[in-house]
Amino acid sequence: MVTARQELLDQSLAPICEKVAAGQRLTHAEGLRLFATRDIFTLGRLANLVRERLHGRKAFYNVNRHINYTNYCVLRCKFCSFYRSYPRGGAGAGDGYEMSIEEIVETAARAAEAGATEVHIVGGLHPRLPFSYYLDMCRGIRERCPELHIKAFTAIEIVHFARIARPRRSIAEVLCALREAGLDSLPGGGAEIFDDRVHDEAFQAKVGERHWFDVHRVAHDLGIPSNATMLYGHIETPAERLNHLIKLREHQDRSLAARAAADAGPRRPAAFNCCVPLSFIPEGSALGHLPGPSGLDDLRTLAITRLMLDNIPHIKAFWIMQTPKLAQVALNWGVDDFDGTVVWYDITRREGRGTNRQELSVDQIRRLIREAGCVPIERDSLYRELHRPVAAGGEGG
Ligand code: SF4
Repeated sequence: MVTARQELLDQSLAPICEKVAAGQRLTHAEGLRLFATRDIFTLGRLANLVRERLHGRKAFYNVNRHINYTNYCVLRCKFCSFYRSYPRGGAGAGDGYEMSIEEIVETAARAAEAGATEVHIVGGLHPRLPFSYYLDMCRGIRERCPELHIKAFTAIEIVHFARIARPRRSIAEVLCALREAGLDSLPGGGAEIFDDRVHDEAFQAKVGERHWFDVHRVAHDLGIPSNATMLYGHIETPAERLNHLIKLREHQDRSLAARAAADAGPRRPAAFNCCVPLSFIPEGSALGHLPGPSGLDDLRTLAITRLMLDNIPHIKAFWIMQTPKLAQVALNWGVDDFDGTVVWYDITRREGRGTNRQELSVDQIRRLIREAGCVPIERDSLYRELHRPVAAGGEGG
């Protein structure tokens, strides 16, 4: 156990160990101490204690398919290597792209046939596509694949839709229309770091925290679950990361209270299912001169996220960004979710080159989880356990 003072390399962690053992909420100052400590083993053990208290040795993954429908974007966030400006000559020039509804529906259908339970859909803020495109996208997938969970659109995309819809629509109207068309949940991207300084320096033109929280508050009130994210390792400080996490925690307190006060049913208020700390990848972005987070910073941030967010059930290591090897190690540092098979992912490519095919098979994921001493559990998008036969010759069990 981690509470005995003589076992600690850093004695200043003793009060934090006692609070974690007692299940008490950590403060910003305690989070800062965890960011500063060199006793990373105690940090890992503390995060693992909380992880095991919530989930035992289970480690979750899902069979999913990411679809990035366009990389055209009206913004130019400095940390982003994904966007392309819409060419004067129209779509098709350069390496920008946009997918047709038929292509998107076909992609989703092929994923469902291959066993996927979820499509994860996000893209740039396209200057020309009308709101009906996004409704048709959801409707088309829902009609073709009634069982597939549609997790789609970051808060910034939702705000964009409210602006381009004719007649103009409120956030609630946009979300209701998308849900009517088939949307099931929001993925949580676009949060970056909730801080005015970081916002002004790294993504000034993008809507800030007020809009991000507005979208998730309305979604939760409507009963649409979502995830939370934090993009770390660029220009923000540890104190700013902690402010971000505490704002997420406060939002979740509110959502959980609303949920507890409501009657059960399909429209019961929802909350964050998980938090996904996203490791910044500098290559190809306007912040390419920055080193990006080290492996130790990744582990430290994932562990502290687990410790600070005492009201969000799951912490995900998104292996695309943290790498499969580090995500595997993180399973003993507070992380309980490995994300999924992904297949194609355009938003980031390590070293700024290579293919956008970024896939782990179910067997590979299960093997990585088992090697970490955990029990692999396939989940659906709402973290309900799924049990299906493992193919002959597969990793099994
Ligand atoms: S992060 Fe999103 S909004 Fe910003 S430039 Fe990239 S695609 Fe556009």
